[in-house]
Amino acid sequence: MIGVILQQLNALTLSIKHGCRLPPLSDEIPSSFPSPRSTVVASQVPSLFREPYILSGYRPVNQDWRCYLLSLFQRHNESLNVWTHLLAGSVLLFRWWANVGTLGYTLDSASLPLSVFLLSSLTYLCFSVAAHLFQSHSEHAHYFFFFLDYVGVAVYQYGSSLGHYFYTSESAWRESCIGLLFLPGALFFGWCSCACCCFAKSRYRRPYPLERRICQLIPMSLAYLLDISPVVHRLCTVSWAQEPSLPFHALQIAFFLLSAVFFSCPIPERFFPGRCDFVGQGHQIFHLFLSLCTLFQLEALFQDYARRRDEVVEVFGERQLWWACVSILLLFLCCVLTALITIKHMSKTLHSQKEREK
Ligand SMILES: [Zn+2]
Repeated sequence: MIGVILQQLNALTLSIKHGCRLPPLSDEIPSSFPSPRSTVVASQVPSLFREPYILSGYRPVNQDWRCYLLSLFQRHNESLNVWTHLLAGSVLLFRWWANVGTLGYTLDSASLPLSVFLLSSLTYLCFSVAAHLFQSHSEHAHYFFFFLDYVGVAVYQYGSSLGHYFYTSESAWRESCIGLLFLPGALFFGWCSCACCCFAKSRYRRPYPLERRICQLIPMSLAYLLDISPVVHRLCTVSWAQEPSLPFHALQIAFFLLSAVFFSCPIPERFFPGRCDFVGQGHQIFHLFLSLCTLFQLEALFQDYARRRDEVVEVFGERQLWWACVSILLLFLCCVLTALITIKHMSKTLHSQKEREK
């Protein structure tokens, strides 16, 4: 009797499975597309691609570019790094439209810094997605896409500074020494953090020494301390009960600091080598917290913009607003140029390295 029941249950399960089965993704992809090869262990990829305490889930190098694009739907040790920022970009756009509906928005000089902030956020998210998706193609691609990632971070830093300066800062802070030098300083430190990250990446080889992290963290920390200074000043001098944006600003700072911890240290994988190969790596947690920081920043800046939009042009003048916002293009060009010069240097180094190995 029990045997018959089990047999019938088995038949039912199989028919449900069959009925609900979706066509595999590979059926939907044109047959001309090459399919990505299975992932491999750390010892099967060049040392440049090996992450500390991540032992498997690496995509083989030198596949067709389309394989890396399709690896978006493959399980590998970069999958979550790609999807966290893809998801963050979509949520950011959704929250933008929601705020446009509730708080109002018109495309004019007053809203320019807010629009630039959105574009700069999308730039860093897209460049990061490209870096984590395509870096495994080759050593050259690895350097190229991570240098591009640093360009995106510099642009985002300056985009944030614009929002903080024009919508969040208090007049007392703007009249201070830091306030007077803020915009040129933000431009300089934005470029500086990109240049130092490119230099550190090209200078040091795996396993990376502590100097590399220091070389990246010092300019990035200085840039952040300057960029966030108008927000910290306002958090310390204005009553939180009066300003709906201040709790969001506090959250953006908290999530940024948390993200910095996971960016700097390979935790928790350090304590569980090989157990965080696909899920739970420190870099994935860093992506998650940085995305939350950006989302809270958008909420805070939208609230500040809604409160100040009628006085922004009067306080700062149309010319300063336009110059400050257009300067992001200058920063972008300087950073791209720096990245290109460094990649040219890296190409020569990789070429002579290959010649020596022959
Ligand atoms: Zn990343």
